[in-house]
Amino acid sequence: MKLVDSHVHLASDGLYEDAEEIIANAQAAGIVKMMVITLNPEEFQRAKQLKAKYHDLLDIAYGLFPSDLHEMTEADWNAFYAITQDEDVKAIGEIGLDYHWDKEHAQLQKEGFIRQIKQAQELQKPIIVHSREAMQDTIAIIQTHLRGKGLMHCYSGSAESAKVLMKAGMDISFAGPITYKNARALVEVPPVVPLDHILVETDAPYLTPHPHRGKRNEPRYVTYTFEKICELKHCDSEALSEAVLANYKRLFG
Ligand SMILES: [Zn+2]
Repeated sequence: MKLVDSHVHLASDGLYEDAEEIIANAQAAGIVKMMVITLNPEEFQRAKQLKAKYHDLLDIAYGLFPSDLHEMTEADWNAFYAITQDEDVKAIGEIGLDYHWDKEHAQLQKEGFIRQIKQAQELQKPIIVHSREAMQDTIAIIQTHLRGKGLMHCYSGSAESAKVLMKAGMDISFAGPITYKNARALVEVPPVVPLDHILVETDAPYLTPHPHRGKRNEPRYVTYTFEKICELKHCDSEALSEAVLANYKRLFG
């Protein structure tokens, strides 16, 4: 069975030091595609080096993270515009809104989110969206500004919001929290997401799925999230794995 991890911080401190071992573990678990999220030029260079060695296994996304935006200089934005044009960059992200860590700069976050969506549009690349405690504003911006495609990463909203987002061009990716015992509202979401709009991810090194919660997360643990979604959607694991891989390729092709 072929698996994907649509969101991993493989080039960040905390995973990069062990990247080779983590990649070997991922391949042994059946992972054939990973989207490496990079949030600054140093992470991007690391990801490029890994990509040169592992080729088709890895794709790269680049974006300015919402709660970092208030510290961004003109040079950081120039780097963003240059790096996102690189042919190895298959998506713009993770971008979005985070009112949990940085409610103070909500207005600036919205402007930075829109600015990055515009660059994605310009380059005809999909977006990968982070939204924490900011679902209504996230939806409003996507509905107004997105004309291409995108992915809601580590989806944490309601089933209703998921339907609205899919209508606006977004696919929905689930991460470790769906396996947690307190995920009462979240478990209602996969049943409303059709097979052709669903993706899975780890967001490693964060959000380790049950039963490894508390340990460092890595892509091989995507199997727990994958199995939970199979259970919630009452679907055959082979069918889900084929759908997820096809969705990944269609979105990030
Ligand atoms: Zn992330």
